[in-house]
Amino acid sequence: MDFELSDEQRDIRDTVRAFVTKEILPLEEDFLRLVREGGARLPRDEERRLRAKARAFGFWGLSTPEEYGGMALPAVTQSLINVELAKTCVPFRFGGEADNILYGADAAQQEEYLKPTIEGERLGCFALTEPGAGSDAGAISTYARRDGDDWLINGEKTFISNGDDADYAIVIALTDRDKGARHGATAFLVDREAGWTSSRISTMGSWHQPASLSFDDVRVPAGKVLGEVGGGFELAMRWVGKGRYVISAQCVGIAERCLKMAVDYAGLRETFGRKIGQNQAIQWMIADSETELEAARWLALRAAWDVDRGADARHASAMAKLFCTGMVGRVVDRALQIHGGMGYTKELPLEGWYRAVRAMRIFEGTDEVQRLILSRDLLRGHTRIGGHLA
Ligand SMILES: Cc1cc2nc3c(=O)[nH]c(=O)nc-3n(C[C@H](O)[C@H](O)[C@H](O)COP(=O)(O)OP(=O)(O)OC[C@H]3O[C@@H](n4cnc5c(N)ncnc54)[C@H](O)[C@@H]3O)c2cc1C
Repeated sequence: MDFELSDEQRDIRDTVRAFVTKEILPLEEDFLRLVREGGARLPRDEERRLRAKARAFGFWGLSTPEEYGGMALPAVTQSLINVELAKTCVPFRFGGEADNILYGADAAQQEEYLKPTIEGERLGCFALTEPGAGSDAGAISTYARRDGDDWLINGEKTFISNGDDADYAIVIALTDRDKGARHGATAFLVDREAGWTSSRISTMGSWHQPASLSFDDVRVPAGKVLGEVGGGFELAMRWVGKGRYVISAQCVGIAERCLKMAVDYAGLRETFGRKIGQNQAIQWMIADSETELEAARWLALRAAWDVDRGADARHASAMAKLFCTGMVGRVVDRALQIHGGMGYTKELPLEGWYRAVRAMRIFEGTDEVQRLILSRDLLRGHTRIGGHLA
């Protein structure tokens, strides 16, 4: 068994680490000031400058196929990069990416949606969840009815990330009520100009900026069907499935940074005439965090490895998401505790992470949904215990 990274993986990781250290971390203080004034993202020109610089290093379109100008990196390498990018609270992505399910779009849709999204000229959102259908996505009731060559969409979507900023939505709607969502739902590409409206939902953390979307007789031509009529649920599950191993890597990055901050602070801060790190109470918090973080790292990378070797990654991704999202909450909490009152201030990124990471146990499958998947796989015999080693 070999737990070493390859030379190439190490090189890429180290280059991204150097980029984050040199280009992004120095912006953190200004970003935190912006947050204190009510902002949630970098100024656009700063974002553009960083993207251009990253692109000059070759970092653009990590998961994007080479034919679209991307790097087409293996999932494990992408995960190593996502760990590094998550070590700062400055929200920055390299750009050049699009939702995985857009690659199945037809030629005209690729010109209109996929390519402009990769280039950062258009912003999409993915709309599955409804007020009456979250974990139970099969209960969606948004309905698209045939009207000549067109479809008329009616319904409500909720908690849609970037829904208030997006200029198009990938909407999963029922097209055959008799068949139900699993075989009777279809994915549509719906421009905002087609008539849907959105309203931002105020949340605990600053990430994702979810919104509710409203569709009232929104007319879309037949050419806006993404994939096959009736194939929408399968596309939706493919979209959700990718998020699970990406989120896991982000959790590892945030936890690594928090633990580093906690260790540094424990070696600096003095109470009762000695460093707080000399107290067993603090040492145990550090030890528990390190152990959980290491376990999470391997679960996250193992899920990505399943993707790379073409195996069914659903079981490994469910374990990774369940454990990593819980782990990061506990590690942020301990790091905040070790920082005492300072941890609770908006001078440091800890309080923002404390609020933001909570959402990771909810979106793209709650903890309970991951447990349902894992137990169902074992109880029905889809997976053997320790199956990948058997
Ligand atoms: C910040 C944020 C961003 C999001 N972005 C998107 C997005 O971009 N697109 C999108 O479509 N959706 C998005 N969502 C929605 C998200 O996927 C749902 O919130 C999630 O699937 C849970 O659904 P729900 O909120 O309706 O909770 P419910 O499904 O109502 O669940 C409520 C509680 O019951 C538990 N539960 C449900 N069923 C069971 C069961 N059988 N056994 C045990 N426990 C159960 C759940 O785990 C949860 O704890 C986002 C949500 C958030 C918070």
